[in-house]
Amino acid sequence: MPKGFFNVPKAINEPVKSYAPGTPEREKVLVAYKELWNSSIEVPLYIGNQEIKTGNTRTMSAPHHHKHVVGTYHLAEKQHIELAITSALDARTAWANLAWEHRAAIFLKAAELIAGPYRAKINAATMIAQSKTIHQAEIDAACELIDFLRFNVEFMTQIYKDQPTSDSQFWNKVEYRPLEGFVYAVTPFNFTAIAANLPASAAMMGNTVVWKPSDSQVFSAKVIIDIFKEAGLPNGVINVVFGDPVMITDTVLANPDFAGIHYTGSTFVFKEIWSKIGSNIHYYKTYPRIVGETGGKDFIIAHPSANPKQVAANAIRGAFEFQGQKCSAASRAYFPKSLWPAIKAEFDKEIPTIKMGSPEDMSNFFTAVIHEGSFDKLAYYIEQAKHDADAEIIYGGGYDKSVGYFVEPTIILTTNPKYKTMETELFGPVLTVYIYEDKDWKNTLQLIDETSEYALTGAVFSEDRYAIEEAAKALENSAGNFYINDKPTGAVVGNQPFGGARASGTNDKAGSAQNLLRWVSPRTIKETFVTPVDYRYPFLK
Ligand code: NAD
Repeated sequence: MPKGFFNVPKAINEPVKSYAPGTPEREKVLVAYKELWNSSIEVPLYIGNQEIKTGNTRTMSAPHHHKHVVGTYHLAEKQHIELAITSALDARTAWANLAWEHRAAIFLKAAELIAGPYRAKINAATMIAQSKTIHQAEIDAACELIDFLRFNVEFMTQIYKDQPTSDSQFWNKVEYRPLEGFVYAVTPFNFTAIAANLPASAAMMGNTVVWKPSDSQVFSAKVIIDIFKEAGLPNGVINVVFGDPVMITDTVLANPDFAGIHYTGSTFVFKEIWSKIGSNIHYYKTYPRIVGETGGKDFIIAHPSANPKQVAANAIRGAFEFQGQKCSAASRAYFPKSLWPAIKAEFDKEIPTIKMGSPEDMSNFFTAVIHEGSFDKLAYYIEQAKHDADAEIIYGGGYDKSVGYFVEPTIILTTNPKYKTMETELFGPVLTVYIYEDKDWKNTLQLIDETSEYALTGAVFSEDRYAIEEAAKALENSAGNFYINDKPTGAVVGNQPFGGARASGTNDKAGSAQNLLRWVSPRTIKETFVTPVDYRYPFLK
C-alpha cells in the first residue's frame, strides 16, 4: 500500500529533433535504418510468458521497396487468441492490485527508453515499416509516443485525485477500479504512437490487454513490445497477437470477460465490431466500453480575407505529409474564386518541388503509400477523375508500383461539391478542391457541414475575425478538432486532445484524462463513523 501522496514528474512535451545535416541524431538514425534494413527479424506472438512461433508466417517489407524483405511474423490460430485472453485474465489480479505508482514507473521508464536509447531504432523501424520521412517518424514514434506515456501518467493521477466531498460524520471515497475482464486493443498502421498508446493507456489504468496490431505495422510494433518489456511490464499484461482480424475479433468478442475495446482504424470496421458487440451483449458479464477513433474527410476552407501563401503552404502540408495517410489529413478544400489564382500560383511554384522517394534519402518530403490495396484504390479514384466530366486533375495523377507503392501528390479540381472524392475517405495523397463564389461563403460553410459522414478535423483560414467566428459556429459539429489559420493535422498530446464525432469516432480524446476515464469503473465508498441505532427520524417525534 502507498505510504505517501506521491507527485509524478511534471509532463512536458518531448522536443522534436531537427535531423538537419551534421546533427548526431541524423547520423544515429541512418545507422539504425541500415541495420534494420539488412536484418531479418522474426516476430513471434507474445502471450503471457511465452513467445510463440506458430510456423505460419508472413513477410514484412517496406512500402517504398516492397520486394525487400526485412523479416517475418507469426500468425495466430484461434487457440492462441483464447490463450491470450486466459493470460490476460490470469495476470489481471496482480496487475490491478499493483500500486499505481509502480504502473506509472513502468510507463515513465518506457518513455525515457524511447527518448534515449531506443529513439533511433523506433524511428528507423517506423521509416521502414510505414514509409515515414524522418520528421514524420520523429513526431510520431518518438515524440508523440513519449508524450502519450508521460501525460497519461499525469492524467491518471488527476483522475485518482478527483474525490467527492466528505464531512466529520462520514468519509466518501471513489476508487477508480480497472474494468472487470480484459480490454481488446485494435490498432491502425499509420501511427506507431497510436499502436502503443491504445494498449498502454488501458494497461496504465490497471487493465490487462489483448493487442492486435495492424499487419502493416508489425515491424515497428516489435520495437514497442521490446521497450515495454525492458521497462518492466509484467508478462500477461499486454498480450500481442497477429493474424486474421475477423477470426481474432470474433474470438475476443465471444468471450464473456470482454470488458472493452480500444480501437483506431477505418469507420466500416468499427461499425462491424460495434454491431457484433451488440449481438453478443447478453453474454457479457459487464457492458463493454466501446472507444473508437475512425475515419475522416477533413476540410480546409479559405475565406476571401485569407493569406493565399498561408493557405497553400498549409494545404500542402495538411494534404501531403505522410502521403495523406493521417486520419486528420486535409482531403477536401473550399477556396473562394477571388483568391484561387493566388493560391494556384503558390501551388504552381511549390508542388513541383516536392521530392518523392525512399525515406532514407532525407531530401524526400514524400514517400510511398502503405500497401498495394491502398495503391490500387488511389489509382482507381485518380483514373475516375481523369474521365469524369466534373473533375480535372490539376497536379500529379501519376502512380507506379514497380519498386514501391508510389502515388504522386495529386490535386483534383471539381465543379461538383458533392463529387465522390469530396465525400469518400481515400486515405492517400489526394486533395480535392472546390471553388466557391465569394458571395456564397455562408452557404459553403453549410455545404461543408453537410458533405461526408465524418467530423474529425477541419481548418478555416481568414484574417477577418467575424468570418472566423462565423465558421467556428457553423462548423461546430463538423470537426472534433478545429483549426484557425493552421493545417488540420499535427495534434500534440496535452495541447490539442484529439478525436472526432459523427462517423469519425466516439470522440474520447486520445491523450487526455477523458480517454483514461473509459478504462476505469469507479467504486464509491461511504463510511459512516457513528452509525445510527434508531430508525426513527426526528420529524417522527
Ligand atoms: P483498417 O480499418 O484497415 O485497420 C485497422 C485495424 O482493424 C487493423 O488492426 C486491422 O487489422 C483491423 N481490422 C481490419 N479489418 C477488420 C475486421 N473486419 N474486423 C476486425 N478488425 C479488423 O485501418 P488502417 O488502414 O490500419 O488505418 C487507416 C484508418 O484508420 C483510416 O480510416 C483512418 O482515418 C483511421 N484512423 C483514425 C484515427 C483517428 O484518431 N480518428 C487515427 C488513425 C487512423
